[in-house]
Amino acid sequence: EAFVRTLPKAELHAHLHGSVREDTLRALGCTGFVAQGRTLEECFALFATIHDAVQDVNAVRRVAEDVVRDFAQDNVRYLELRSTPRATAHMTKHEYLVTVADAVRTAGAKHDVLVRLLVSLDRARDPSDANDSLDVVKALPAHAKAMIVGVDLSGNPTKGRFADFVPALTRARSELGLKVTIHCGEVHDDNEVAEILAFAPDRLGHALHVPASLRAKGLPVVECCPTSNIKTLALDALHEHPVLPPVDWAHLVVCTDDAGVFETSLTKEMTMVAHEFRLSRDQIAQLTRAPLRHAFAHPKDIRSLEMRLWPSQTSSS
Ligand code: 5GP
Repeated sequence: EAFVRTLPKAELHAHLHGSVREDTLRALGCTGFVAQGRTLEECFALFATIHDAVQDVNAVRRVAEDVVRDFAQDNVRYLELRSTPRATAHMTKHEYLVTVADAVRTAGAKHDVLVRLLVSLDRARDPSDANDSLDVVKALPAHAKAMIVGVDLSGNPTKGRFADFVPALTRARSELGLKVTIHCGEVHDDNEVAEILAFAPDRLGHALHVPASLRAKGLPVVECCPTSNIKTLALDALHEHPVLPPVDWAHLVVCTDDAGVFETSLTKEMTMVAHEFRLSRDQIAQLTRAPLRHAFAHPKDIRSLEMRLWPSQTSSS
């Protein structure tokens, strides 16, 4: 674990409000964090509790700054955070997104992390809400818009239908020029998985229940979140995981999902995988760096980060 911690890492699948640590939540007056279990339904109840504690731009800023700091302390140097635009009695979706974008940019500069944002569309809400969020993205000031590199479809997988979000996802891709990642196969639904793959997203979240016939045709890169999957699928251990190892390493990135809710870190997730598959130090170094190849940030930003983090290996390639 100490070795993995020292390596610079890249995180591609982290939900903002799932990544917030207990200390931050307590400071915002949120209790009841530890008491609950972590089945899928319990996780969504917990997200609602967290959202209740983060109702205005000051709380949002605090959460965003603390989350970037926490990843930086784990030596994460590239961070794609995703978050669902939320309007409350105290803020609009526009204010929410501007606050998150400004906070992560400032905190990223302070803690030496390149941060980019994905806008999450919530499948449990009406599809018009997704469209509305895209309108908000479109109208953002340039400095906030520059932080947003993709969209994600997430939210309670037992609610809503993927097909209803295809128009919004298509719009995000064609009109706003954003990359797309989709939570896929968190629960059994082979038809929906086929629809998602037909859309050809740039990456997939989880991809736990994918029929072998579709898997055989090849998948986009899978964002794999070991602890989250173990808890929500109620597995006994990593060796029961349905994706590791059937998906080959070149098509898989290890991520945290909700580092606060699952009390984990990218170091812990990668260490778990390294132990289970007896990876060599070279392979571990690959595992920590590989996500950058699949990052949604502009290639020139990725390139300059790589030159800085791995000067000897990058300059010659
Ligand atoms: P937020 O988008 O509010 O910053 O982060 C919390 C939200 O992320 C949750 O309300 C939920 O919509 C989404 N989320 C977090 N973890 C998961 C997960 O494991 N699966 C799915 N489908 N959505 C998740």
